[in-house]
Amino acid sequence: MSQAARSAQRRIAVCEPYLGGREAEYVLDCLKTNWISSAGTYLTEFERAFARYCGSAEGIGTTSGTTALHLALAARGLGPGDEIIMPAFTIAATVFAALYVGATPVLVDVEPDTWTLRVDQVAARIGPRTRAVMPVHMYGHPCDMDPLTELARRHGLWLVEDAAEVHGAEYKGRKCGGLGDAACFSFYANKIISTGEGGMVVTNDQALAERCRSLKNLGFNRERRFLHDAVGFNYRMTNLQAAIGLAQLERIDEYVERRRAHARRYNELLRDIAGVTLPVERPWARNVYWMYGILVDESFGCTRDELRAALAERGVETRTFFVPMHEQPVFHGMGLFAGESYPTASDIGRRGLYLPSSTGLTDDEIAYVVDALRDVQATARG
Ligand SMILES: *Cc1c(COP(=O)(O)O)cnc(C)c1O
Repeated sequence: MSQAARSAQRRIAVCEPYLGGREAEYVLDCLKTNWISSAGTYLTEFERAFARYCGSAEGIGTTSGTTALHLALAARGLGPGDEIIMPAFTIAATVFAALYVGATPVLVDVEPDTWTLRVDQVAARIGPRTRAVMPVHMYGHPCDMDPLTELARRHGLWLVEDAAEVHGAEYKGRKCGGLGDAACFSFYANKIISTGEGGMVVTNDQALAERCRSLKNLGFNRERRFLHDAVGFNYRMTNLQAAIGLAQLERIDEYVERRRAHARRYNELLRDIAGVTLPVERPWARNVYWMYGILVDESFGCTRDELRAALAERGVETRTFFVPMHEQPVFHGMGLFAGESYPTASDIGRRGLYLPSSTGLTDDEIAYVVDALRDVQATARG
């Protein structure tokens, strides 16, 4: 490590929440008025406002992104014998949601640059049992939705977006979350906007929205309260969480602009570093860079994991990309995905790293991260 880097040492988190708007005011209002459970006006207001932001009619708040995914699939009535096509490169929650309802997850590989599912492979995997397709917009970049929508329509498949990483991202000028038959968001602490923990299903399908509302609330019958229409869940978001979410939503445009500015700065500073592949933004996409991901090639001078360790020594926190779903022993043990091959998912899973990506990152911090990266490369190359 150079003297300059050592003396400038600090700690830069990979992704932190960005508060500082009216969160405290709204939460305090909940406390003062006693509305701390899932009843309350912040919840209905947040659901309405976030759905509208996505260009959708209905929003159903949940306890997490994972429960939003489960709720959507359950409300659609998917179950044993049904196949759901999804990318091999995603977080395990996507596969788990299918398994929670007893459906069968079917994987496809991803594009080498956007890291989102390959539509040609979706077409190849549609069979008599296929009921749904679950595209995952990855690290802030949308999937190529037009050909996917066309394919889904042609085969009568339900299209549900895993939009947990793309609040505010756009496909051909339309917001992610308003592109499929339904979409699921997460508001975990590191997402673009947060409620601490939380999630939401958004949809234009009124009947689906009604089933989601019933199922997330123990399936209570509307007329006769302790009579139940279904084996429901308790996936209710609280008014307190929604109060934070509403304050976050008021500033989402600024958050997205900041993240895009950070990405432009990283792109500029990293452009000429050998052995590093930068994230892309297709002409039809507005990437919100939930995470600024890079791929580390052999020519960099050391491996991805060595780079990660050396950056950590310099106070720069990073995360490796997801381990693809077909490489997870837990699924092999269930007889899923064993022996299947998704070369791009495996390759980016091995070489991908995301750099500090918080909304509140400063230009100075970005410069420090890039200097640290250059320093690691210089050291590795001797
Ligand atoms: C974060 C995330 C989830 C899960 O959200 P939680 O709120 O953590 O349950 C699901 N899918 C994707 C793609 C995610 O990034």
